[in-house]
Amino acid sequence: MAQDRVRRLLIVGGGTAGWMAAALLSRMFGQTLAITLVESEDIGTIGVGEATIPPIQTFNDALRIDEAEFLRATQGTIKLGIQFNDWGRLGDSYMHAFGGIGHHHALSPFVHYFLRARAAGRTDRLWDYSLNERAAQAGKFGKLPAIQGTPLAGLNYAYHFDAGLYARFLRDLAERGGVVRREGKVAGVRLRGSDGFVEAVEMEGGEAIEADCFIDCTGMRALLIGDALKVGFIDWGQWLPCDRAIAVQSENVAPPRPYTQSSAHSAGWQWRIPLQHRTGNGHVFSSAWMSEDEATQILLDGLEGPRVNDPRVIRFRTGRREKFWDRNVIAIGLSSGFLEPLESTSIHLIQQAVVKLATLFPDQGFAPAFAAEYNRQMIDEFEGIRDFIVLHYHANQRDDAPMWRHCAAMAVPDSLTRRIELFRQSGRIFREQNELFHEVGWMQVMIGQNIWPQRYDHMADALPEGELNEFLDNLKIIMGGAISRLPDHAAYLAQLGCKVVGAA
Ligand code: FAD
Repeated sequence: MAQDRVRRLLIVGGGTAGWMAAALLSRMFGQTLAITLVESEDIGTIGVGEATIPPIQTFNDALRIDEAEFLRATQGTIKLGIQFNDWGRLGDSYMHAFGGIGHHHALSPFVHYFLRARAAGRTDRLWDYSLNERAAQAGKFGKLPAIQGTPLAGLNYAYHFDAGLYARFLRDLAERGGVVRREGKVAGVRLRGSDGFVEAVEMEGGEAIEADCFIDCTGMRALLIGDALKVGFIDWGQWLPCDRAIAVQSENVAPPRPYTQSSAHSAGWQWRIPLQHRTGNGHVFSSAWMSEDEATQILLDGLEGPRVNDPRVIRFRTGRREKFWDRNVIAIGLSSGFLEPLESTSIHLIQQAVVKLATLFPDQGFAPAFAAEYNRQMIDEFEGIRDFIVLHYHANQRDDAPMWRHCAAMAVPDSLTRRIELFRQSGRIFREQNELFHEVGWMQVMIGQNIWPQRYDHMADALPEGELNEFLDNLKIIMGGAISRLPDHAAYLAQLGCKVVGAA
């Protein structure tokens, strides 16, 4: 069947988004599609973005990336989850650990057995049944897809890495796959008179680069989707008050922890992300409740080691484009919207966008149905993550600072209210369609921030009390045994040829 294929694709922007798009699309369509990427070293990239979530493994696998080579090239470390400190109440600490918690019994999810035992006086933490959390706290990691001889899953993990080095790594791959890189600044965008499609980008020197299809990866500048096509931006500031980040790097003073830390302050929160050669730190805060000077001071006071660069302010707006795909332009990365890095989801959203674009890749006709479906799917992705992040802000009992009181009292999206109420009243949670975060992730944040269900599922009563305790004890023993056999995280990385503080 003759098809009017798109032959020329221009990616504008070479940050993490641009090079992820270039690497995957060249692998999938390199035979028939000429891909050019234009970027400007003078403008540079956003220069932050260090924590990821497990689906990035699928992306790397699709590119046939060797994990050890990737970890060495990006100064990467392993991430088993995110530890949240002071989020529910001052002094609280819990982890959103990847992977499962406990094990279901008969048809009833594990949480109901846990709640029943708790109601009977058992004092375990939910996370005593999380292999990931316990390995993270012990500073251990090894490849463990399953706990042998049991039905229990093993460790689920993601990475911390330097996103600039990751982009560089992907650039090498993409260029080997035929992508042509052009250095220079885009000064303008030329639209076709008949239908307003983008015809070409105009470079500072006057040259025009034409293409059939354009991917806008110009970061927060959004040169094509925003400036040229005037697609609007939906602001979510009413639910997510933070609009600034101060970022700074510090020396490692101890072996890298295999997890991200997020510590709430009075008007925002601070991340700590350990790489092999340094630690990334940042304070995300709301300018309505704190000045940049104060936020910088709090960040610097909270560093574990000496800082290695000057603090940098990044201003942002939380929300999404009204449309991600308009005419022959698809916005990917920061040009398409932004959700603060509380659950490390931006690089994941890039991955989702690139994969969805590949599955809905247009031909020259740019049938509106393709863009409509892509937009529908990406809106779901963004809104599901938005609700999850809003949950962290809303479910707090901190009365020490006005921002937290405001967030606890604010009206949240109906979709979130519904979910919190169902969990509070019944301990039940349901994952909606293909949303990113599973039941176990929602459950950890809700319980971690003190939303305790008022009852458990009566199916959990089917197990006699003695058997229930034996079931729970056995889970803990099996997990403890598996963790004791794992190497230290630092030793694991060293064995892959990575240079890590504290490795034997
Ligand atoms: P950029 O990195 O800004 O790249 C834009 C590109 O466009 C550059 O190559 C630039 O040179 C080019 N460009 C722009 N204008 C022009 C022009 N006129 N001509 C030519 N080229 C041009 N994500 C995570 O997943 N995990 C995290 O932990 C995380 N932390 C973050 C912390 C903060 C404070 C912020 C703000 C973001 C964080 N992110 C995180 C998001 C992550 O940094 C971005 O999603 C990711 O880096 C992608 O950025 P980008 O490629 O869209 O944009």
